[in-house]
Amino acid sequence: MTRDDSFILPAPATPSVPVAGDDRRFAVRRIYCVGRNYADHAREMGHDPDREPPFFFSKPADALLTGGADLPYPPQTSDLHFEAELVVALSGGGRDIDPANAQSLIWGYAAGNDFTRRDIQAAAKKMGRPWDMAKGFDLSAPCGPLHPVSQTGALNSGAIRLTVNGDLRQESDLDQMIWPVADVIAYLSGMVELAPGDLIFTGTPAGVGAVVAGDVVRVEIAGLTPLETRIV
Ligand code: MN
Repeated sequence: MTRDDSFILPAPATPSVPVAGDDRRFAVRRIYCVGRNYADHAREMGHDPDREPPFFFSKPADALLTGGADLPYPPQTSDLHFEAELVVALSGGGRDIDPANAQSLIWGYAAGNDFTRRDIQAAAKKMGRPWDMAKGFDLSAPCGPLHPVSQTGALNSGAIRLTVNGDLRQESDLDQMIWPVADVIAYLSGMVELAPGDLIFTGTPAGVGAVVAGDVVRVEIAGLTPLETRIV
């Protein structure tokens, strides 16, 4: 670590994710997550009479788990859930971004998993408390290598699926997002200023469920390196 006499203690390491086909990593500033963002099977074809603005929560940037590392079963839960999600990495930012300009701010994409202590979340919802401890626990954000948009093109459709020990548990298409990525970026930028290095977990399709130690959870998104996480 570089010595820097301007800090009392050594500066913490910069969170980052690997980049496919590149020795360099993508330095991460913040992790935003979108709440429910896929139409369920009763809401086909993008018509949603209850369409509401998207809502957001965060995970700490250092909650990232990369390199296919194992996830130790976290404390204070007996209901750890997987959530397969497309992760969008930003190369640009700003406030009040027009959806028409949002795509130009995307650096790349990765397969991610928004692990959730569902029992803690349920209690928080019931008591009107924050979700932080349900969503932002240590290593709660496994993320595969980023693929630059220059190689993938805009990922607005394509299969997203999740298996546990080889059994299919979630299967949908990115085009089923209630709020497409460009709209997510636009809405979020009306709440906070976005910046290069921000990651956005864009929500999960139906089929979430619990895992136990020993399970291997695999997130597959068309065109991206699969993300495999073993619970230990
Ligand atoms: Mn999620």
